[in-house]
Amino acid sequence: MRCAIHQGYDASGTCSNCGQFLCYTCVSLFNPPMCANCAIAIGKEAQGKLITKIVLSVILAIVGFLLGSIWTTGTAFVLGLLFMGLPWGYGATPILTAGVFATQGCAWGVFYFVVKLAVSAVIGIFAMPFQIVKLSGQISLSKTAYTLFE
Ligand SMILES: [Zn+2]
Ligand SMILES: [Zn+2]
Repeated sequence: MRCAIHQGYDASGTCSNCGQFLCYTCVSLFNPPMCANCAIAIGKEAQGKLITKIVLSVILAIVGFLLGSIWTTGTAFVLGLLFMGLPWGYGATPILTAGVFATQGCAWGVFYFVVKLAVSAVIGIFAMPFQIVKLSGQISLSKTAYTLFE
């Protein structure tokens, strides 16, 4: 078997993502082993996610701040911060599934949604730096992968 990236090299492992054969150079590039194509694909997806979340986060922070400034400056900052956390925390609250409340009727559905938003916002403030680090790490995967083609 030959490496999927380097045709002239014997395979010494497989990509943990798509299962293609990889040579020793490719296998030792990532942990877990991954082919360059997968690393580039993951990097591109992470880049898209990161940009989308940052843009959403900034827009929501402004909306929250403006909404809060109806009351006091303190409220404006708190609401701005909470709204900023929303895009980062929303995916981190899968435990709160709609199914739990869906059978209870419409009012419960709304209640569920409000609770989910509130929990997401609080989690999001703490999750944001971790998610940025994680996504940045995935983006750098694709940069490393490109060195294989040079
Ligand atoms: Zn792969
Ligand atoms: Zn290779």
